[in-house]
Amino acid sequence: MSVVNAGNDRDAFRITLLGTGSPRPNLDRQHPAALVQWGSAGHMLVDAGDGVVGQLLTAGVALEQVHNVALTHMHWDHILGYPAFVWGSWNAGRLKLTVTGPIGTSDMHHRLVESYYREQAEWAMDLGFPRSGFDDIEVRDVPVGWSENISGCLVEAGPVYHPPMHALAFRFTFDGRSLVVTGDTAMCEELIAFTQGADVLVIDACAAAPSNDLPPARRRIIERLHEFHASPQDCIDIAIRANVSKVVLTHHLPGVEPDFDAAKFSGEVIVGNDLDIIDI
Ligand SMILES: [Zn+2]
Ligand SMILES: [Zn+2]
Repeated sequence: MSVVNAGNDRDAFRITLLGTGSPRPNLDRQHPAALVQWGSAGHMLVDAGDGVVGQLLTAGVALEQVHNVALTHMHWDHILGYPAFVWGSWNAGRLKLTVTGPIGTSDMHHRLVESYYREQAEWAMDLGFPRSGFDDIEVRDVPVGWSENISGCLVEAGPVYHPPMHALAFRFTFDGRSLVVTGDTAMCEELIAFTQGADVLVIDACAAAPSNDLPPARRRIIERLHEFHASPQDCIDIAIRANVSKVVLTHHLPGVEPDFDAAKFSGEVIVGNDLDIIDI
């Protein structure tokens, strides 16, 4: 995997959790982001929350080699680090970039990168930075059902339930193995169908039950999150019904322990932490 200079393992297929947190800033958990890697150089950065550039560097990733990004949706905790990634990787020498996400992705890129930073980019190009990697960034809004073969991996966009946002899950199938990364989602029948038989499911488990010592106003906010996010127990139930072998819970609130009963699940449950690497 040349992106992390970890040799040339053609069968490798793994996900590095770069950020397993939620919107509230937290030293232990950065905002959502993960790097999926396969084969000798295949990769996709999924989401780019705050801290993504630092986490990529900490994980030993060569920023300039990351040129595929998928965004699950445009909530701020998933894209705050996007302009930092575009700039940081371009500054490090990245010469191309393809960004894929739901409706709203190109508008976000236009407003957060192109519109605000064009003048500064022109200044940098005048200084000698190449136009490629900034001028020719390909940003595409794609629907549920979109798929593409990227470096030998089938990447598919699937449904989640995260109103009112346009949002996607992504499924990666490489060498007979598959991984689903949901982004944010509440319990969703269509997601269960999309996830069927995956080896690994990385899923939003944000809607954990609030602890009793929280102030009532904060408890109410956390309880209402269940309308938009899965609870840890929902994640286990989805994994059971989708016949998944391993489920990885992410998008954790600070100070909230994920509570679940996995007695009926024959697979493995992992409570994801920043910089965990999970082989598919
Ligand atoms: Zn969200
Ligand atoms: Zn989120």
